Amino acid sequence: MRPQLSEHNYSVSANCPACKAITSFEQKHAIIWNGTRTYKEKSFNRVLYILNQCARCGRCGFAEVPDNGARVNGSALENFFPFSPDVLPVPQSVPKDIETEFREAELCAALKTNRAASALFRSVLEKTLKANGYTKGNDRSLTDLQKRIDAAAGDGVITDARRKKAHEDIRALGNDVLHDDWREVSDDEVEDAHRYTQRILEDLYDDRATVEAILKTKGRIQ
Ligand SMILES: [Zn+2]
Repeated sequence: MRPQLSEHNYSVSANCPACKAITSFEQKHAIIWNGTRTYKEKSFNRVLYILNQCARCGRCGFAEVPDNGARVNGSALENFFPFSPDVLPVPQSVPKDIETEFREAELCAALKTNRAASALFRSVLEKTLKANGYTKGNDRSLTDLQKRIDAAAGDGVITDARRKKAHEDIRALGNDVLHDDWREVSDDEVEDAHRYTQRILEDLYDDRATVEAILKTKGRIQ
């Protein structure tokens, strides 16, 4: 989850990288800076720099919160440290290099480097399909990622619904980043790419024995 400011006070809910739980980082101390700050096109008249602490393990946190006086309502969480990646579980049989790429994409998402995250989720999809035999070397028609996704759906190792999502939310987004003019990539787009990349890893690696049997029947792997 993304760090979220409480509706009632200045505590922040976030993944704690020390105790590996979603916890409340509670306010311990704050410095107030009075001045105009614009954040996401909204204007605020002061900024609070807040020292927080994980209620579970005591790890320190730091929040930067623009607001308009002693009201939490309408306050914004501009920054929160430590960075706390939204880590989704993946099956144990996922190859190490693919999982490492996936974790780095999650870290980019936590750092809000959304374009880098999108390119890496696309890379995870491409590496995953390659590891499962969807390469040009195996089949001359598999010239690009689009055709590899379609072939995996055609073999039944990913569902047709997943094929559509892989095209729209991972491949197309990653293509935009790699090949098209610069544009801002939203948090929601990265979240969708994240979720569907994880689901494709589950499709291919949760019940690995069954998937491997299909891949062998289809001549994708030996
Ligand atoms: Zn903690």
